[in-house]
Amino acid sequence: MNVFSDPMQRLNPGVQSFLKQPMRLLIDGQFVDACDGREFETYDPATNSLIARVAEAGVADIEAAVAAANRALVGPWAKMPPAAREAVIHRLADLLEKYADDIAQLESLDSGKPAAQIRAVDLELAIGALRYNAGWPSKLHGQTIPVNAPDMHVYTRREPIGVVAAIVPWNFPLCQACFKLAPALAAGCTVVLKPAEQTPLSALLLGKLAMEAGLPPGVLNVVPGFGKVAGQALVEHPGVSKIAFTGSEAVGKHIVRTAASDLKHVSMELGGKNPNVIFADADLDVAAATAAMAIFFYSGQVCAAGSRLMVERKVYEQVLDIVVAETRKLKLGHGLAADTALGPLISADQFARVSGFVERAKAEGVECVIGGQKPGGDLANGHFLEPTILVNASDSREVVVEEIFGPVLVMQPFDTIEELTARANNTGYGLSAGVWTKDVSKAHKVAAALQAGTVWINTYGQFDSAAPWGGYKQSGFGRDNGEEGIEKFLQTKTVWTHCS
Ligand code: ADP
Repeated sequence: MNVFSDPMQRLNPGVQSFLKQPMRLLIDGQFVDACDGREFETYDPATNSLIARVAEAGVADIEAAVAAANRALVGPWAKMPPAAREAVIHRLADLLEKYADDIAQLESLDSGKPAAQIRAVDLELAIGALRYNAGWPSKLHGQTIPVNAPDMHVYTRREPIGVVAAIVPWNFPLCQACFKLAPALAAGCTVVLKPAEQTPLSALLLGKLAMEAGLPPGVLNVVPGFGKVAGQALVEHPGVSKIAFTGSEAVGKHIVRTAASDLKHVSMELGGKNPNVIFADADLDVAAATAAMAIFFYSGQVCAAGSRLMVERKVYEQVLDIVVAETRKLKLGHGLAADTALGPLISADQFARVSGFVERAKAEGVECVIGGQKPGGDLANGHFLEPTILVNASDSREVVVEEIFGPVLVMQPFDTIEELTARANNTGYGLSAGVWTKDVSKAHKVAAALQAGTVWINTYGQFDSAAPWGGYKQSGFGRDNGEEGIEKFLQTKTVWTHCS
């Protein structure tokens, strides 16, 4: 049967039965309706058809969730020995592994991303984040400090920072939730998780599994809802100590300004306009094929997308030909179909935004070599956009400097390293970059010169829960993953004891 005619029929029985249940908020260990009974709808972006109605958190629900998280912060969770806390986090990872195929299908339906890719990438990263951070509780030791004053014993304690508001976007819903939840739990914090309004479902399933894993009530609360209401209420709430945010630069800046009123701790993972640089001495076949996936993976809805491909002039045409050939191979389709390489954009708004960039660029004389159209047939009702390659764009064009967050690659030639690094750095963003060359010293020289939180050499888009991830400049501050990933959920207490 054509997947577009009834995608729900493609779902595993476990996902079908999950979707038959009411989609409620998780507050204090209970699944509850919103106080005012409001609900919102979540749609399949590949067909534009309704998947489910979901309880919509309002201000009163945020109040209840934050109160529950504050109670849990000083309840059994605070007294749990490190080994027990580690075990709970591992049990949650076990459950994600057990239900990985179901979760991938649910996430695919809600986000449009190919289920097989979610299973291979998002689930592995989410499970990896839980497993990596599960090891921390027993290792969060302070220090003894040799102070100058006599008869003093001074030591430090590493304590949880408090209630964490984890506010996450729609492009990696489960994965981003776990990047924040895992270290927050390991640090002993409690969490109110607000998934994006476009993709609330996997967070609710995560909440259900967290309860099954034995997380005490109130340690994880899940509050689907809209940014301007539920998100804003969380950011303003005095009972929240820390905001861990991934999303757009505009909302990130707004949150920082709001959080300044009571000096909440904030960490921000924002957007990127990531230069992917190919030198003439690179393995061009591998570099160019990877460059196509670096931008088109998840239809370019990835903050790390290699959206600006800069190629040394003497091999520019050759690389362009390979990237175009690779792009032609990418099949658009429903995320639940096994042969789909690229899914739709998340929403009609996102489609309008991305295609607006393409249309304005074309009107300004930028050349579109491939793509740029909305496909018809089975794909006509979804928010699909063909993978698009733009060339002949000068550095000042918005498609060169702005984050498009869609399947749109801009290719530009360069001549020298100095020119390349100056141009690549001439953007407000600084999230990630790629460098392709067989010359080791050139690779490291360019990696050092690029202003980016992550640089990939002769590879692209690698992640690991042990490797810090975050931005320079307006791509944000604070790091997810690795040791720095847990640091931001801890605070240090210094204890002085007079012992004469
Ligand atoms: P995107 O462009 O990826 O949709 P957004 O920054 O709009 O990114 O959204 C990321 C997350 O931030 C979502 O969960 C959204 O609901 C939330 N959000 C949006 N506006 C606000 C706000 N004013 N306060 C708090 N959270 C918000």
